[in-house]
Amino acid sequence: VAKNRGRNQYCFFIPAMQEAARHRLGLSKDLRSALSTRQLTVYYQPIVELSSNRVCKAEALIRWHHPQRGLIGPAEFIPIAEETGLINTIGNWLFEQAAQQARKWRLSIHDDFQISINKSSVQFRNERENHQAWLEKLTQLQLSGQHIVVEITEGVLLESGNRFQDQLSSFRNAGIQISLDDFGTGYSSLSYLKKYDIDYLKIDQECVNNLSADPANLALCEAIILMAHKLGIRVIAEGIESEAQRQLLKNADCDFGQGFFFAKPLPADLFESRFSEQT
Ligand code: C2E
Ligand code: MG
Ligand code: MG
Ligand code: MG
Repeated sequence: VAKNRGRNQYCFFIPAMQEAARHRLGLSKDLRSALSTRQLTVYYQPIVELSSNRVCKAEALIRWHHPQRGLIGPAEFIPIAEETGLINTIGNWLFEQAAQQARKWRLSIHDDFQISINKSSVQFRNERENHQAWLEKLTQLQLSGQHIVVEITEGVLLESGNRFQDQLSSFRNAGIQISLDDFGTGYSSLSYLKKYDIDYLKIDQECVNNLSADPANLALCEAIILMAHKLGIRVIAEGIESEAQRQLLKNADCDFGQGFFFAKPLPADLFESRFSEQT
């Protein structure tokens, strides 16, 4: 694009790229000390059973409170953590936080309460550092794996193949459940659902987004739900922002919902004070 507009564009374009690179370099330096200085925190977003309106799960979502740049979302810093290898330390730390929270909320919210944790394909590549550490942490905390769900994307299934299969079975043996995130975008191959032992499927927020505007999207959601149920997989709709969307998904027999309509991701103490009174 820059080339078509003539030589002068280079002068504009290159500094912008350098600036972006400098920004990333700065963040990766800062990220190294972010954990030890307690700048990373975990937010929790409720997952609601649509038939009962009960909050029965939460997704753990990482946040970075940068002292100069303010709140930074995972989309910006998880890729940097992956490039620098910091993702292992961060992932283990997050798992511990979430598992401790699950142990607490099992008592204060509901005895089958679950917390789901995102695990990227890069994290699956480092099996020694990550995988074992998570299982050991469960034992150490004396928490049953039943309270943990690991969210993966299709990328994990595409890239990791047999290695994933091995890790999946040891997660399974510990009672951990598996959720396939962002379904309905990308390849969304139905054969994955048959091949891998998956407990939950999360319909991507893009599909949920224009549910009421686009009849084709509703048809897609209905088909996904029907097919998942036939395979014994329960369905969570992501990104529910309105009552209309909630109603349409409930009518389509979707099991769970998550989104700003119910609540935004919240710090642990706020989550607890808001949802521990439910019966
Ligand atoms: P995700 O796992 O698909 O998480 C859902 C994202 O959608 C979250 O963004 C959440 O805040 C946002 N969201 C929830 N409800 C709504 C809604 O109603 N409307 C809209 N517009 N958005 C909604 P967030 O927290 O920024 O996370 C982005 C992505 O970063 C996550 O997507 C996940 O892939 C990744 N991520 C977050 N935490 C972690 C982590 O601890 N480890 C790893 N590996 N990845 C993480
Ligand atoms: Mg997720
Ligand atoms: Mg998602
Ligand atoms: Mg995502």
